[in-house]
Amino acid sequence: MDAPLKFVYDFIEGDGSQKLLLGGKGANLCEMTRIGLNVPPGFVISTQACLSYLDDPQRNLPSGLMNEVRQHMKALEDATGKRLGDPENPLLVSVRSGSAISMPGMMDTILNLGLNAKTLAGLIKQTGNERFGYDSYRRFIQLFGKVALGIPDEAFDAEFNAIKARVGAKADIDLGAAELKETAERFLALVRERTGRPFPEDPYEQLELAIKAVFNSWMGRRAIDYRRQFNITKDIANGTAVNVVAMVFGNLGNDSATGVAFTRNPETGENRLYGEYLVNAQGEDVVAGIRTPKPIQEMEREMPDLYRQLDDLRQRLEAHYREVQDFEFTIERGTLYCLQTRNGKLNAVARVRTSVEMVQEGLISREEALLRIEPKSLEQLLFPRLDPAYKHDPFVRGIPASPGAAAGRVVFDADKAEAQGRLGELVILVREETKPEDIHGFFAAQGVLTSRGGKTSHAAVVARGMGKPCVVGAEGMLVDVNLRKAFVGDLVLHEGDMITIDGSTGNVYQGQIPTVEAEFSKELETVLSWADEIAQLKVMANADTPADAARALKYGAMGIGLARTERMFNASDRLPIVVDMILADTTEERQANLDRLLPIQRSDFKNLFKVMAPRPVTIRLLDPPIHEFLPSERQLMDEIERLRHLHATVEGMETLADALRMLDPGLHQEYVNGVEPIQSRLSQLKNSNIDAQVIAEKETMLRKVRALQETNPMLGHRGVRLAITYPEIYRMQVQAILEAAAECIKEGVEVCPEIMVPQVSTARELEFVKRHVDEIKAQVEEHYGIQVPFRFGTMMEVVRACMRAGEMAKIAEFFSFGTNDLTQATFSFSREDAENKFLPLYNEIGILRDNPFEILDVNGVGRLMAIAVDWGRKARPGLKVGICGEQGGQPDSIRFCHHIGLDYVSCSAPRVPVARLSAAQAKLLEKKYRFELIPGKATEGPQPVVRDVSL
Ligand code: PEP
Ligand code: MG
Repeated sequence: MDAPLKFVYDFIEGDGSQKLLLGGKGANLCEMTRIGLNVPPGFVISTQACLSYLDDPQRNLPSGLMNEVRQHMKALEDATGKRLGDPENPLLVSVRSGSAISMPGMMDTILNLGLNAKTLAGLIKQTGNERFGYDSYRRFIQLFGKVALGIPDEAFDAEFNAIKARVGAKADIDLGAAELKETAERFLALVRERTGRPFPEDPYEQLELAIKAVFNSWMGRRAIDYRRQFNITKDIANGTAVNVVAMVFGNLGNDSATGVAFTRNPETGENRLYGEYLVNAQGEDVVAGIRTPKPIQEMEREMPDLYRQLDDLRQRLEAHYREVQDFEFTIERGTLYCLQTRNGKLNAVARVRTSVEMVQEGLISREEALLRIEPKSLEQLLFPRLDPAYKHDPFVRGIPASPGAAAGRVVFDADKAEAQGRLGELVILVREETKPEDIHGFFAAQGVLTSRGGKTSHAAVVARGMGKPCVVGAEGMLVDVNLRKAFVGDLVLHEGDMITIDGSTGNVYQGQIPTVEAEFSKELETVLSWADEIAQLKVMANADTPADAARALKYGAMGIGLARTERMFNASDRLPIVVDMILADTTEERQANLDRLLPIQRSDFKNLFKVMAPRPVTIRLLDPPIHEFLPSERQLMDEIERLRHLHATVEGMETLADALRMLDPGLHQEYVNGVEPIQSRLSQLKNSNIDAQVIAEKETMLRKVRALQETNPMLGHRGVRLAITYPEIYRMQVQAILEAAAECIKEGVEVCPEIMVPQVSTARELEFVKRHVDEIKAQVEEHYGIQVPFRFGTMMEVVRACMRAGEMAKIAEFFSFGTNDLTQATFSFSREDAENKFLPLYNEIGILRDNPFEILDVNGVGRLMAIAVDWGRKARPGLKVGICGEQGGQPDSIRFCHHIGLDYVSCSAPRVPVARLSAAQAKLLEKKYRFELIPGKATEGPQPVVRDVSL
């Protein structure tokens, strides 16, 4: 016979490795118990129990579960010397959710379970504190009522606020035992009214309902939204565990307290205890922002001995977990308990600093340091800051809770934030305090501002996790959600007003304040230099101008992987020449205009080479269809139409004067006074017939536009195909590149130019361009009297090119995968149409997991790349290969690029740091990567960790 399933684990039975089974909180409570920290006794009901409960359409707890619970409760009673439901010496427990991945505030928790009319008396006797007894009781009824019985918080709050108002109490702490007793009674009546039944008195019935409620919260809207947003799939966290823990009380008097702390500062990374606490309070008061807590450093003065104990706890936690911990503690009558610990959510600044310092302290290795930073989070470090030159005063100040500046229109609730956000509006969510059900508002907002709460309040923790600017506890501001206004003294803030919050200082300003670019910190430089030492992939930047290139260099780019020359053609001083070149009827005329462009392009390239010297600079020859440089047919037709009306319009102005004289002499006079000074010039213009000349030019252009018109321009006459029909365009560009290089060399600047041809589908195209390049190289070298070294290569962005990679590599010295076009070509999706019309639905219903234009489609596009690399290198060993499509800056895609042996990735400047770290992680995690080029034949490693956009 099979052994009966075990669903319940005592804290002394489990350990920290069992997160999937026991949830993060449960596993850590076990682990802390195991290493001898002072944790209140308790047990964990496994996630397996949750899954089998949720699987049952009847929603019954799995059979045998409650028996197991009773047995473990017995052990808990023995450990504490108290008994559940005992009127003399009652045991109270907390019932807490906790899945494998921490989802702060997304699921439910109930405290003080076990209270009823009888045990309440016991509790009062036990503690000798009547006020405390009723306070615990009313808290329990409200939490249980909300979580297990589905009665909204507001109903309880209304009752409670009525009592507070009546006695003139500002905070809960101002209420005495009598009012709290009355509150509890009103709450009990409310439960009876709302549920039609009395509040459940039997502690085991309470426990069973609470367990079910926690399980149900796994499928609640906020939890589902959160999992979707953070891509928490079933293999990462499946179901929640339930932790049943003996209650310890921080609200037993002034020798009791509760708090939340981080072993290091989660905003700056400083290695010092960080957190907040409240004397004589229960944990939820700190987290929910109901009372604004004190900074933990004040405890050093107020409770010096306990502060020392707390600091000792911090050291022990870090030494054991080798990671910054975010922990909750309670002090009950002078005894310190640790109620929970988890890896701290740090912002990017703190994560980078702690990584460097923990290596220096010998706590972790460099490799571990690199792996504990989420590459994408580095983008946060490049967030704009408020312009320090901006000297205006804030209209209110709060506590800086998550750094960065954000501007947006004020909205007072999460639904509105979501709705406005969908319309593309920038919004700031402004609340008194936030609750877990506001999570969708956080996603939509640029930043969050609250008038209550501290650095560990819900708003602060969630915003930090998301990397969104946040200011909390702006107590000078009164938020009235019903009036949809906020008041700061005489100032009234309306919904829709523009404000700017600075999450680094806590300042809040009216209007939109200018921002400046962020600076690279020393710690980030250190981390990225470690990354560069480990990474195999080089990281290049996509940059078209010297200014872009300089920025990319600042971010650590090792060269330019893609300079799109068409962007240079579009600059205002050269567009007219480009247009003349396109309109030219003869090769000679075209050449004359190209001759005018040559020095301009040469200087462009020279500047790029100089900024990047001695690093490689890959210049792509002209790519887009040339009609893109001309006005559209519609625009030209409108302009011609307007010009054709010139004569009639001027004549009409003359006759208008006559008509006005007859109709309205006053208006006539005004008209004549206004128009007369220019009337003669208008008549001259009309008689000069200059309009006919301009119309003729526009018509010529219109004819050209029509001649160049294509049904599918992106699949039409562009890239190398232009070079086949107009070789002189590429010849000019190649000459400009090589002359720029020659001049740099002569000036003593080391250069490494690469010439790249776009849209190539056959090696013969490449051969055609190469012949011209060789010819020009010979001319340039002869002219300057020096050798000009460079590489000649091709974009790989056409499917056929990948399939002919061997042939291509015979001519090309390097490949650069243009995965923007290659993705379009492989899927036969036009990016714009796909993203605007059907891709979101594809993602939503799971046909595609991600957007393949953001995350490389490993199974389709990736396979083509892998094959092309293989065939290319067979034909030309040592062939240099990179990627320059957008996916080149995306961490999962970079991992794949490493795996198939690319030499470099190239991405936009702000993603260069992300790519550098991703490249190092790809190397460190390479053994875990698995990719089957040929189905059934994995190339590496034991674990299937390929992130693939296609299902
Ligand atoms: C590409 O196709 O991936 C590429 C880099 O070229 P572009 O985006 O300019 O078409
Ligand atoms: Mg392309």
